[in-house]
Amino acid sequence: MLQDLVERLFIDGSWRRGEGAHIAVENPATREVIGHVAAATPREVDQAVAAARKAFKTWSRRAPLERSRALHALGDNIAAEADAMARIMTLEQGKPLNEAKGEILKLAEACHFYAEEAVRIHGEIVPNTTTDIDSLVVREPIGVVGAITPWNYPAELIGWKLCAALAAGCTIVIKPAELTPFTALAIAKMTEKAGIPAGVVNVLTGSGAEVGQALVEHPDVDKIAFTGSSRVGLQIQRSCTTIKRLSLELGGNCPLIVTASADLDAAVKGAVRRSFRNMGQICIAINRIYVARPVAETFVCRLGEAADRLVVGNGIDTPDADVGAMASAEPLNKTMDHLADALARGGKLIAGGRAPEGEAFSRGHFFRPTVVSDCTHAMKVMTEETFGPLVGVMAFDNLDEAVELANDTPYGLASYVYAKDADEIRYLSSRLDYGNVAVNNVDAGIMNAPYGGRKQSGVGYEHGREGMLEYLNFKHIRIRYDEPKAG
Ligand code: NAD
Repeated sequence: MLQDLVERLFIDGSWRRGEGAHIAVENPATREVIGHVAAATPREVDQAVAAARKAFKTWSRRAPLERSRALHALGDNIAAEADAMARIMTLEQGKPLNEAKGEILKLAEACHFYAEEAVRIHGEIVPNTTTDIDSLVVREPIGVVGAITPWNYPAELIGWKLCAALAAGCTIVIKPAELTPFTALAIAKMTEKAGIPAGVVNVLTGSGAEVGQALVEHPDVDKIAFTGSSRVGLQIQRSCTTIKRLSLELGGNCPLIVTASADLDAAVKGAVRRSFRNMGQICIAINRIYVARPVAETFVCRLGEAADRLVVGNGIDTPDADVGAMASAEPLNKTMDHLADALARGGKLIAGGRAPEGEAFSRGHFFRPTVVSDCTHAMKVMTEETFGPLVGVMAFDNLDEAVELANDTPYGLASYVYAKDADEIRYLSSRLDYGNVAVNNVDAGIMNAPYGGRKQSGVGYEHGREGMLEYLNFKHIRIRYDEPKAG
């Protein structure tokens, strides 16, 4: 499938050879170029937005049941091509093949979820002060959506926007990350195969500063749905030149609190999964852990052992590896910077701290899952988003201290608690200033509940019914009736 996507843009239902420059896409496990994509020009951005605008007129007027059927067909096609799509993702992103396939199958689930929601876009009738008036509150699609996405979950982060937007009746222009554009183009192939009409879905590859920014500034884009760093999210908010709806899913610096009542084995298992899965390149990664002092030493020791057991591998050759290569040199360098900072400020290296040895790892962006204990809030690992396979651990003496440390951040995306005591669980979950709190599990986001950040982690929601409301306007229709004339 990859060869069909090289240097192509998907505009108005056709695969056009990009007229601008070409960008090389590397396999992060080997640094080999897997292909080139087109850098969309301003003219191509205009063409894609115009196609989406034209398609909006008819797509928004289709019966919800038709949109629902189209999304079900998209989900079926994606699931059927999961192996081929996963291979593309692993080649450009680095995560092990099995994990990439899991992500593609979750994208298919998102299609089916929003296919079901498409037929449940209900309105309301609101009471008035007199009985001769009806106030109808109906929901209408916003219009043309510009979706801008990062490289860490190249399929799902597009899917949540694409599926909710299409279910609502919007059309979309997608600008994927420079590191992972082929997965987005593969998704476009599936929309074509599912019979979604020309112009409803468009994909433009290219740089954020040019193509992404052009969508943000485009007067005919009604909404920007963005997932990425808080820095770029703020830039987007500042640089809109016309009023637009915005949803911004931004960075995190997520804490885990482990109390003395916790099941330590479960806490270690959860911490390993959510600190290191996808090489820690996940916005809801556990970046920092606060452990009750009486159990801290045992916890740190078991966490280090579990991190050391994780298998790092080239995601294509070792499909069932626990973790693959990091997506590029940038997150790897940031991880090493946060590690050096922690060690220089008195942190103790418990596990990892180096690249894996051997010829297989010599060219790619590999690093061992790393644990540092004895951390403080003077360290970057405890106060900034690392976005890599590094976690800092610190002991606490009472729950108030744990809450204060956990909330001591400009971010508010996700937080985690391991505790068995119900009073502790209630106390902590009501005080953690985060959009998501996961207790005795580390899956903070599920498809049918709203997922979103607070503070510098963003505005708006994805997943669930709330995720679809982000693509709908309310309209209040207030109608006064007269009594029918007699006879
Ligand atoms: P990034 O902000 O650098 O880039 C994200 C996207 O924005 C890319 O497509 C990029 O090309 C584009 N972009 C860059 N500059 C732009 C501009 N001026 N105008 C418009 N678009 C522009 O983020 P990244 O490095 O790709 O991803 C990592 C970040 O994403 C982390 O901070 C992570 O926490 C965050 N993230 C958040 C969530 C969430 O749900 N909250 C999920 C995944 C990742």
